[in-house]
Amino acid sequence: MLRLHEIRLPLDHPPEALDAALAERLGAPAQGFTIVRRGYDARNPKRIVLSYTLDVEVPGEEALLARGSPTIRPAPDMRYRFVAEAAGRMEERPVVIGTGPCGLFAGLILAQSGFRPIILDRGKQVRERTKDTWDLWRRGVLHPESNVQFGEGGAGTFSDGKLHSQIRDPFHFGRKVLEEFVKAGAPEEILYVSKPHIGTFRLVQMVEAMRETIEGLGGEYRFGQRVDGLEIEAGSDGARRLAGVVLHTGERIATRHAVLAIGHSARDTFAMLHERGVAMTAKPFSIGVRIEHPQSLIDRQRFGPHAGHPLLGAADYRLVHHASNGRSVYSFCMCPGGTVVAAASEAGRLVTNGMSQYSRNERNANAGIVVGITPEDYPGGPLAGVAFQRHWEERAFVAGGSSYAAPAQRVGDFLAGRASTHLGDVAPSYRPGVTPTDLSTCLPDFVAEAIREALPAFDRDLPGFALADAVMTGVETRTSSPVRIERGEDCQSLSLRGLFPAGEGAGYAGGILSAGVDGIRVAEAVALAMTDGGPVR
Ligand code: FAD
Repeated sequence: MLRLHEIRLPLDHPPEALDAALAERLGAPAQGFTIVRRGYDARNPKRIVLSYTLDVEVPGEEALLARGSPTIRPAPDMRYRFVAEAAGRMEERPVVIGTGPCGLFAGLILAQSGFRPIILDRGKQVRERTKDTWDLWRRGVLHPESNVQFGEGGAGTFSDGKLHSQIRDPFHFGRKVLEEFVKAGAPEEILYVSKPHIGTFRLVQMVEAMRETIEGLGGEYRFGQRVDGLEIEAGSDGARRLAGVVLHTGERIATRHAVLAIGHSARDTFAMLHERGVAMTAKPFSIGVRIEHPQSLIDRQRFGPHAGHPLLGAADYRLVHHASNGRSVYSFCMCPGGTVVAAASEAGRLVTNGMSQYSRNERNANAGIVVGITPEDYPGGPLAGVAFQRHWEERAFVAGGSSYAAPAQRVGDFLAGRASTHLGDVAPSYRPGVTPTDLSTCLPDFVAEAIREALPAFDRDLPGFALADAVMTGVETRTSSPVRIERGEDCQSLSLRGLFPAGEGAGYAGGILSAGVDGIRVAEAVALAMTDGGPVR
């Protein structure tokens, strides 16, 4: 099987043009092909080009490869292979803490390999969780254990469901994630479009379908069960080793292998782990605001006359500016045709994020505009980043009117350094509502300064970006975890054998796909540790 890269055709090419282009590349007609990837090049909006990667079986592969062309290579084998299997019905069961994409894939791989994992989540099943989340959006009522961050499916459930990632993935775990998502109800196109996304409604159904699969394989889910403690014993080599997890009810679950996939918002759990001597360090993250523009403006700028083309969908953007104060400002988690969401998980603190449906047909485009910060900005030990986030989330809560309404500001006012007293043509989508104000009171000075410099620079790349009526809401603080929970090559905590820190909360992923990939990696490590199966790959 050969993989052919960069077969470029005009946006509106007829289907047979792909066969013709393939035949031309091979020097002979091919019997059939599979589209592995379809992307587009919109650098010239008037002449948008589709770029295909195809897998094809043809006679004379050796001769074609001998040409040495970088666009004709052997197709990689992307099938997933399990590394270890449970030896019959094993007495000990691994525990997975968290049902976000990381915990979900860790649980799935362990279940598929026969280990019957026990999967715990502090939040509720996804349908009940959806109601609780809407309580905040509709009525300003926050449920601290059941919200955008906590509950079945994890942080990405109410999201745009973007599934691309820049991670190194030599074992094609990302392919396994996408294939399992398709089995659970995701559209097949996620297997080949260059920027796949799923949207919120489907994610909810998929998370339920995957739960059924895991339970069918002997896995066990327990919701409303927060891990509040760890049981630790001295191993035969003197090293500290996990003996069990303790729930908030006081119940103890004995296990010597637990995947810790708690996400970036489990601040109380971070504190408990720190107290129990689990090695962790403060890590960089970013902070800023969410910005909204009319989606039609972004479509027009990015796709010109092709705006609205069904193969292109709603346009996205990716912007970076290196500010003169030494900070990097960049767009984060851009959601075309989506809404800004209230993403708080703690009372009296306010956080924004973005989501969309599969159709991406809401009026506004939104994205985080965030500034990178490092532990030097918040000295004080492993949990200092959490305190820093909390401080700015509290300021935003108060600036919004202490009701979970978000502080908001017109871009024109922000650039002029004056508070907004009203908003303009761009209606903010954040619910339960917004309060026009001065957003710089909810941001460190250096962050406000860097964003003020970046917006006109972004406007040069994407004309209209600094539109006076574009609206900003804040604050965006949960861009990634403020801590890294240290683990070794074997994926086990450096200070506690048997604990496997994983996913975004532990600092090993940033996004749905990479969290799923890390879940697979760590599940393999657990399976190998439970069977003495050798080193992780
Ligand atoms: P999480 O998904 O955060 O899951 C952690 C789970 O652990 C939660 O279910 C929580 O309830 C549980 N938990 C925490 N503490 C405990 C405890 N002590 N005991 C038991 N259970 C516990 N990423 C993308 O790639 N694309 C997007 O489009 C996208 N959009 C997003 C939109 C929003 C609104 C948000 C909030 C995030 C978005 N993200 C997106 C980021 C993505 O959701 C995360 O990167 C991903 O969910 C991280 O996965 P995880 O499994 O590591 O952690």
